[in-house]
Amino acid sequence: MFRLHSIKLPHHSGSEEQTTRRLQPPKMVYISMAQHIGAPCEPTVAVGDYVKLGEKIGDSEAFMSAPVHASVSGYVKEIKEVVALNGRLCKTVVIESDNRMQLSPDIKQPTVNSREDFIKAVRESGAVGLGGAGFPTHVKLAYDREKYTIDTLLVNGAECEPYITSDYRELMENTDSVLGGIKLIMKNLEIPRAIIGVEEDKPEALEKLRKLTAPTPAIKVVKLRRAYPQGAEKVLIHTLTHRTVKEGKLPADVGCMVMNVSTLGFIHNYIRTGMPLVKRRITIDGNIVNAPANFYVSVGTPLHDVIGYASLRTQPDKVILGGPMMGNCAFDPDTPLSKTTNAVLLFADAPVYDPSPCIRCGRCVRACPINLMPTELEHAYDARDTAALKKLKVGLCMNCGSCSYVCPAKRSLAEKNQLAKELLRNSEAKNGK
Ligand code: SF4
Ligand code: SF4
Repeated sequence: MFRLHSIKLPHHSGSEEQTTRRLQPPKMVYISMAQHIGAPCEPTVAVGDYVKLGEKIGDSEAFMSAPVHASVSGYVKEIKEVVALNGRLCKTVVIESDNRMQLSPDIKQPTVNSREDFIKAVRESGAVGLGGAGFPTHVKLAYDREKYTIDTLLVNGAECEPYITSDYRELMENTDSVLGGIKLIMKNLEIPRAIIGVEEDKPEALEKLRKLTAPTPAIKVVKLRRAYPQGAEKVLIHTLTHRTVKEGKLPADVGCMVMNVSTLGFIHNYIRTGMPLVKRRITIDGNIVNAPANFYVSVGTPLHDVIGYASLRTQPDKVILGGPMMGNCAFDPDTPLSKTTNAVLLFADAPVYDPSPCIRCGRCVRACPINLMPTELEHAYDARDTAALKKLKVGLCMNCGSCSYVCPAKRSLAEKNQLAKELLRNSEAKNGK
């Protein structure tokens, strides 16, 4: 039986009461062709082309992919390889803005008369999971109806990492859009019920949602305990439905589909206006930020523009894109923001830990939400023992970081699990498994 372990984290949500502002579109945008899980896109424009805001600039034939669009109007200056946060090289289209934000004539409200039209429209919008995962949304919607029966749409309003409040602001500022997105999915995919999960420390959002959903009994609002990682897909499914997604299985295997609130809000706006995913809301916070807040930022904005805009007490020595638990450190100030960047966190004097030997206290095991054995996984990885890694089910690790966080010896357990998964994948690919 799946048993939820969780940890308590400090909130640091100083940006949650601030209404979202618009960050000035930058002079140059760097739009990566790999903004999602799955196959990267190929540029559909060439150097010298004039592109308009919302125009498609990259696409792929692959099913597991989503197109990318220009987030400013201007000229394509360059198409180059850029090192992404995961260390991979990604083709990137560089556009110099003409500051006119001329709209593409392709932007028009899509015609949706069927499930297929809806899925096609969502694909064309460039939608990916905005909670940080970056799974192409249309792939999730296009599940095999012969194989799966989905009876519940789970709406993830559990923003459980410290600092990040971008989903909370979506719930507060665009409540109607979020509910509109839920209804669109329920209608077009014939899903009979939806459950919105929001953590207990967001009473205003809970109240607002309860009031607005009162006339719609098929949509239920559930208060969740403040815990980490409450928003992880498998954890949320178990908490809200008591169903367990077993190893190698999908949410669809237990009749569920999980969607993030910002993704739902975006889908609703796209179906209403036809404006693809060219900007998103991000939280700017950290221990040197004078006024933490949320901003709408053009996709492809370089990090140095964001840092230049924020009012800082001193220069950062550590920058994280995403949350402090699951985000990635950025080493290059030119790193562009992508569709999946939900926060830019800026720190100075961040502690540097020197790991000491494991004292076998078992805290990492007790912290793991899915009952893995992080300390045993570490041994297996250090020995490059792929058979043991498989037996210990490293593939289930969701890289939540809880084990590293609680470890008194400050061992890099979650980080090693990332490497261990890669090692196992490569080994299985080599052996043709
Ligand atoms: S929490 Fe750290 S010290 Fe404790 S058992 Fe796990 S790895 Fe060892
Ligand atoms: S990072 Fe992986 S092993 Fe560590 S607590 Fe999270 S799920 Fe468990």
